[in-house]
Amino acid sequence: RAKEHGGRRVEVFAAHMHADVVRRLELAADLQRALLAEQFAVEYQPVVDLATSRITAVEALVRWWSGGAFVPPQQFLGAAEDTGLIVPLGEWILREACREVAAWRASSSDIGLSLNLSSRQITAPRFVETVEAALADSGLPASALTLEVIEEMLVEDAEEVIERLGSLRALGVRLAIDDFGTGYASLALLRTLPVDMIKIDPSFVSGLGSDEALTLLTRTIVRLGHDLGLTVVAEGIERPEQLELLREMGCSRGQGYLVARPMAPRGVDTLMRTDCPPLQNTA
Ligand code: C2E
Ligand code: MG
Ligand code: MG
Ligand code: MG
Repeated sequence: RAKEHGGRRVEVFAAHMHADVVRRLELAADLQRALLAEQFAVEYQPVVDLATSRITAVEALVRWWSGGAFVPPQQFLGAAEDTGLIVPLGEWILREACREVAAWRASSSDIGLSLNLSSRQITAPRFVETVEAALADSGLPASALTLEVIEEMLVEDAEEVIERLGSLRALGVRLAIDDFGTGYASLALLRTLPVDMIKIDPSFVSGLGSDEALTLLTRTIVRLGHDLGLTVVAEGIERPEQLELLREMGCSRGQGYLVARPMAPRGVDTLMRTDCPPLQNTA
């Protein structure tokens, strides 16, 4: 009886909750189950040297097939962060990607690994030790790992995040600012963080050749990055004219569907077996 009463109360409560909140709670439970059931996978998107078209690195991107259907990361990462599940999930991605990239390096060329982080992960207890252990266990050299951060991570717990990133860099790991140019403080960030790389947001790259202002901004970011001694990666290259302009600007690296889509490890295996060839689309 009490149970029935309790159940009804839950129902009434649920009915008054915003549908979004209910969906988020269900999502959180699904994520928890998915982590236990090992339903996550990592795909890798090649990053190429724009001058030679050779693969220099792969970016690890988490994938979730929930009941056979693909769920884009942006639909579940928020919930994974809110629930803290991003911490074990992120560690799994880190270990999986370090292991796979170390194997590709052993059988072929010295590609690097780019990994996305969330602030919740960085500030988790012993995160630096976790990265150190993942490197040691996989045999991946610290210098082959680039950690990608975005500006929003420095909004909360900025001091703690900056301190952690400093300790990570002291391990020999490299740091990249992802989605560069979209935040309010992209330039200030270059002074705050010991950054090695910037990744120009696709919103700039998409306008290359068609939008004068975006083209000028992209050119300026490329020059700024190079003047600061940083590696500059252009993201979201989809059309040949974008690739041409980026090459002409002297942008060092590129990534995007025109170059290569994110692919399962088997796809990277195939690429690596031909010893990191120049990718055809970009040659
Ligand atoms: P991001 O780090 O900026 O990753 C690039 C995103 O752009 C990826 O989307 C990739 O599939 C997509 N992309 C690559 N080339 C093109 C292109 O030419 N055109 C278009 N339209 N899109 C392209 P994805 O895999 O959906 O990931 C979205 C975001 O989710 C990532 O943005 C990153 O912020 C986050 N994310 C992905 N994997 C992880 C992860 O393992 N951990 C964490 N913390 N975040 C992740
Ligand atoms: Mg990224
Ligand atoms: Mg990005
Ligand atoms: Mg992004």
